[in-house]
Amino acid sequence: MSTLRLAELATTDVEALLREPHPVALLPVGSTEPHGPHLPLLTDALLSEHACLVAARALRASGVTAVVCPTLPYGVTRYAAEFAGAISLTAETTRAVVRELCAAYVAAGFARVAVVNNHLEPEHVEALAAAVAAVPGAVFANQLTKRWGRTLSEEFRRGDCHAGSYETSLVLAARPELVRDDVRATLAPVPISLSKAIREGKVTFKAMGSERGYFGSPALGSAAEGAEQYALLAAMIVAEVRESLGLDPRPAR
Ligand SMILES: [Zn+2]
Repeated sequence: MSTLRLAELATTDVEALLREPHPVALLPVGSTEPHGPHLPLLTDALLSEHACLVAARALRASGVTAVVCPTLPYGVTRYAAEFAGAISLTAETTRAVVRELCAAYVAAGFARVAVVNNHLEPEHVEALAAAVAAVPGAVFANQLTKRWGRTLSEEFRRGDCHAGSYETSLVLAARPELVRDDVRATLAPVPISLSKAIREGKVTFKAMGSERGYFGSPALGSAAEGAEQYALLAAMIVAEVRESLGLDPRPAR
């Protein structure tokens, strides 16, 4: 089985996959959300999908047969509602869809299903956490936890990480043709911490101080930083999955 993507397999391939000792499904979740004038609406979904592909390869190298599920490119997207292209589900629907998908993968015979997300709006992340908590066999690889957040880039840790250098770098490393490079070169830094603005009760990007729907420093992003951050996201996913299976979180190389 060479492909990493579940949806490219035939049912007979899936039968064989499910006979492996630890078949694992990685479920990428994102949003359809404005990410400034330089990144696509697809940003969060493509970040999750690419992180899952990197993690699936690493899991297979460690003896765990992982596949990447079709991506769920919708979630709770309220902060960006003032910009064109924000398409939101309610928290209730998001929770129900993710819970049902997790339960369906477990019922289909996967030993674990791991939810991988890159849309960091609190209401969305809480919906995912609640969905995963309701399904035995489901795992949430969540970079907003202390354990994993501190492993990521400085901009991510500061919290000004919507469409800034962190996310721009991740899109550059996976799908460079989707980044408007001429535009991002002209974007002045917006050094405002989203996490702080959220704690202060602000609920839209404009109210948080972003006129154009980005925070941080898009102009500083690079494909090299993106590759580095994918490796860290993949290490989180690998560790969460292996730990949940009772295996050493850091596979021997
Ligand atoms: Zn994003």
